[in-house]
Amino acid sequence: MQDAAGVKTGRLYEEDAYAVHFDAAVVSAEGNDVVLDRTLFFPEEGGQVPDRGTLAGFPVTDVQIRGDEIHHTLDLNGAPDTGLRAGDRTEGDIDWAFRFSNMQQHSGEHLFSGLVHRMFGLDNVGFHLSEREVTLDFNGVIPPDRLEELEILVNRAVTADVPSVIRYYESSDPEAGEYRSKLDLPGMVRIVEFPGYDRCACCAPHVRRTGEIGLLIVTGMIRYKKGVRVSILCGERALKECRRDRNIVLQTAQYLTTSPNEIYAQTVRAREEIRTLKGRVKELAGEKMLRAAAGADPDAEHVILFSEDADDAAARSAVNMLTASHRGYCGVFTGSDEDGYRFVIGAGSGADAKEAAELLRGRLGARGGGSPRMVQGSVKAAADDLRALFSTGGV
Ligand SMILES: [Zn+2]
Repeated sequence: MQDAAGVKTGRLYEEDAYAVHFDAAVVSAEGNDVVLDRTLFFPEEGGQVPDRGTLAGFPVTDVQIRGDEIHHTLDLNGAPDTGLRAGDRTEGDIDWAFRFSNMQQHSGEHLFSGLVHRMFGLDNVGFHLSEREVTLDFNGVIPPDRLEELEILVNRAVTADVPSVIRYYESSDPEAGEYRSKLDLPGMVRIVEFPGYDRCACCAPHVRRTGEIGLLIVTGMIRYKKGVRVSILCGERALKECRRDRNIVLQTAQYLTTSPNEIYAQTVRAREEIRTLKGRVKELAGEKMLRAAAGADPDAEHVILFSEDADDAAARSAVNMLTASHRGYCGVFTGSDEDGYRFVIGAGSGADAKEAAELLRGRLGARGGGSPRMVQGSVKAAADDLRALFSTGGV
């Protein structure tokens, strides 16, 4: 059999995407690497991960095209080799659930890309299909407000249940007609057609009829290179994604004791309320700070105050109040032992605030600076250490 890429290993998956069991002759078997005269295992190709399954009873962990051969990598689970010799006959089984899901995702991709091509004149220039993601890259921008319409139209193409028609042409054959293609390959080209929807050169297994794709959902779109990257899911993968999202919505609604439709408005209200309350907490903390400054021991040389929530303006006001009545350092530390502290330190008539900043930098690795009258900065240290520094630490 002649084929598109000149691979000699016979590609049974191209002839029947629905076959799950096959036998073949061993061409070579070295360690865990096996080459057969033909295989049902779809290799990694065109952005799609390889098939899984078993060969000669061993799990197949990778399938790659190398030169004109398809290599199967087996998990020997400690065995020295497969026991296979060139010329032996062996049997393989592919993981049908995995294969079929990939067929659904890939055929869904064709319908979606065909529609995008027709509606927006864009080409699919990149495709990734794995367990983690199904992404389609286009060489231009799809307006975000048209995504929902695209999703509906693709799902209509699914329910139209049109057959897939797969034919081989010489690429130079005018009979091949118009088709989408990422590469200009010489030789034979395999064209997968969903009549009325899409024609595309493709090497992968596809569903017999679009109805088998099942639900197709768009899960995201981001700007990518000069166009967009669209994420889709089909069949049970789409259903699972919808179910997961639905569960999150229901759980959140239950927690907020509201209906799913009210979640967004209620979350916005809750965040606004939190912002207002945080502002009020800061205000109260600032007032408390000023009361503490007013009540500070008038005979103390240095005064150091702590607050979790006071803002910088309140801290500066407190420091100004303190420096008017104290000779030494007057500091306010805002924050916590875990997160560290922002500080404002002023100097009374007998001190230089820059020396306090120097001390904090030298002893506790603080950052910041300022003028001889006032310094500001931050320090990752415990309140006890800061108190100790200002009561005994050479100031
Ligand atoms: Zn394809």
